[in-house]
Amino acid sequence: MAKTVLITGSSKGIGAATAILFATKGYNVVINYNNSYQSASLLCQSLVSNGYSVMTHKANVANRLEVELMVKETLYKFGSIDILVNNAGIAHQGLVTETDEIDFDQIIDVNLKGVFNCCKAVIPSMVSKQSGKIINISSMWGQVGASCEVAYSASKAGVIGLTKALAKELAPSGITVNAIAPGLIETGMNSNLTVEELAEFVETIPLGRMGNADEIAAAIEFLASDKSDYITGQVLGVNGGFVI
Ligand code: NAP
Repeated sequence: MAKTVLITGSSKGIGAATAILFATKGYNVVINYNNSYQSASLLCQSLVSNGYSVMTHKANVANRLEVELMVKETLYKFGSIDILVNNAGIAHQGLVTETDEIDFDQIIDVNLKGVFNCCKAVIPSMVSKQSGKIINISSMWGQVGASCEVAYSASKAGVIGLTKALAKELAPSGITVNAIAPGLIETGMNSNLTVEELAEFVETIPLGRMGNADEIAAAIEFLASDKSDYITGQVLGVNGGFVI
């Protein structure tokens, strides 16, 4: 029977690339989105028209009730959730003195509480099967901190702490929990950077280029596969050598 993967924030960027990869590998795929109905629908339609098993579900990961409903519907439609990819995220740049409490709360609510909400909703069904894989998308800024991204860095460091704690808690239930810490990846999240800013950044990356969404999707697929069965509680850096 085909395995099912729920990918949060998969209307665009890394999540969309991951949805395409898993669909083409034969998984049932749930494309979660919050605002981008059109991108999510177009992606779903193009995959379904090629014969793949895909559905969309709108849910704000920061909202516990919406997440619970998404998980219920997925279990109803596909029978199990074998892999949870917590990818949904938002960024915020600015001096800490210019970061409003509301901005800080929003970043933490989506990037960190969203991961908690999705894990909490999915885990009971994984525990009952005594198997499952949870992959959380952190960031290299969660490892080393980014200037002018205090809230974002804190949220992504929180994802790493959550990953390690949850890995210990769920190992006896046969569930692995790992994180990926991407470096600079070519997606809409970096569209606020000018060409000059990007070029300056790229000069500091040992491999000399930005990463792309497919490279993160490939790392997610590895952590979702049985090739990674003895790996849990780890943070896999996919960053061109920027953080070693
Ligand atoms: P992106 O292109 O901006 O995509 C972000 C995705 O998250 C969208 O599909 C968006 O869906 C979804 N999302 C945002 N808020 C949501 C919410 N409240 N509930 C559900 N979905 C929500 O960004 P990306 O680069 O692919 O980022 C994906 C993940 O990688 C994020 O966690 C990000 O922090 C992390 N990351 C990215 C980079 C990078 O350089 N790009 C580096 C390190 C880590 P809607 O538009 O439908 O709301």
